[in-house]
Amino acid sequence: MNLYNITDNSEQVNFQQAVKQGLGRGQGLFFPETIAPLADIDALLKMNLVDRSTEILSHLIGDELSKETVKSIVSNAFTFEAPVKKVTDNINALELFHGPTLAFKDFGGRFMAQCLASFKDSGKITILTATSGDTGAAVAHAFYGMENIDVVILYPKGKISPLQEKLFCTLGGNITTIAIEGTFDDCQTMVKQAFDDQELKQAIGLNSANSINISRLVAQICYYFEAFAQLDETQRKALVVSVPSGNFGDLTAGLLAKALGLPIKRFIAATNENDTVPRYLAGEAWTPKTTIPTLSNAMDVSAPNNWPRIEELFKVKGWSLSELGYGKLSDAETKETLVAMDKLGYLCEPHGAIAYSELTKQLQEGETGLFLCTAHPAKFKESVEEILGREIFIPEELASRADLDLLSKEMPVDFSQVRELLMAL
Ligand SMILES: *Cc1c(COP(=O)(O)O)cnc(C)c1O
Repeated sequence: MNLYNITDNSEQVNFQQAVKQGLGRGQGLFFPETIAPLADIDALLKMNLVDRSTEILSHLIGDELSKETVKSIVSNAFTFEAPVKKVTDNINALELFHGPTLAFKDFGGRFMAQCLASFKDSGKITILTATSGDTGAAVAHAFYGMENIDVVILYPKGKISPLQEKLFCTLGGNITTIAIEGTFDDCQTMVKQAFDDQELKQAIGLNSANSINISRLVAQICYYFEAFAQLDETQRKALVVSVPSGNFGDLTAGLLAKALGLPIKRFIAATNENDTVPRYLAGEAWTPKTTIPTLSNAMDVSAPNNWPRIEELFKVKGWSLSELGYGKLSDAETKETLVAMDKLGYLCEPHGAIAYSELTKQLQEGETGLFLCTAHPAKFKESVEEILGREIFIPEELASRADLDLLSKEMPVDFSQVRELLMAL
């Protein structure tokens, strides 16, 4: 798989280099040079998740990794399912929260960890990642205890849910967590600064596990196929997929699935009040504003990292951005939606609810809707219980960590302090 840097096309890397490097020169994102459609989608749809994902990823990565290697990476990473559940007659939920940290980020995080473990000559690696809540947990758990890999996670202090924090800030070992006195965008900016620091990069073998890493994106392509495989012929005919979006990795993966030949009719980019993309798609200039804290905190992103990849894909495929649906929800509307969904017998959380709400507004006659449920409701226990006025079930993965002590360090938005810590690891 050859990839080029979107901002500096002269930089070209293969898949392994792209995974190890994360980001290209000048903070440019890597993008696949060719996206050849898959030959036999129908045959793929008949396979199980691991076999089908092996075929898809092998096709994308090419002969750089043998099919056996890809199969072993996939079987170690995708150890849980992604069921489609019916919510209304024409709307279904794709539940992506059945992994160890109860969010879709387990797919990408675990795939990336298994990739790095399978690359022979990796040497010492330091993973530096910014998280708006769920990436941190997925990456921490995926890399926990791995030899030669240190993981450092920056997150906005007080802006992620208490249980989200407990899930990854209680591990210790090769996992260091830092609560930054700022927003997710501040954390993300410091990660980018670290990547621009050549001396630091060399000294610690810097890598990022953010959704800027191509391995995470390609892993996420697989569950769009998995969802499709679970739908019947009629549902597949005019499928509209609504994606709750923050950094826009998930939507990028969905669009890549379509580029590979999965016949999804259209997508909806659903956001909270951090609506840079909806405003842009409505014709405004690209103007990220100050990030606003919302109920759907994993989407509190105003300068989405993956957007350049989406623009590049539309350009390469000759698609028009006017075909991309969009919408945004306020916290008040999100609460109303959660209550309405609960009445239908489906317990959701704020992120999934935003995507569902856009389907109810935008689905047309004859279309079937699918929305991504990106996290388990229990990860947002406090807000969900308050909104629904009742207690909800907490799965063992979370309950077992709730009483452990937080091990995080605190820091202001000051790159030099983060740098010092990284150098001292
Ligand atoms: C990360 C995350 C999102 C946003 O996904 P992107 O790929 O960054 O757009 C949505 N919901 C939840 C629960 C998340 O953890």
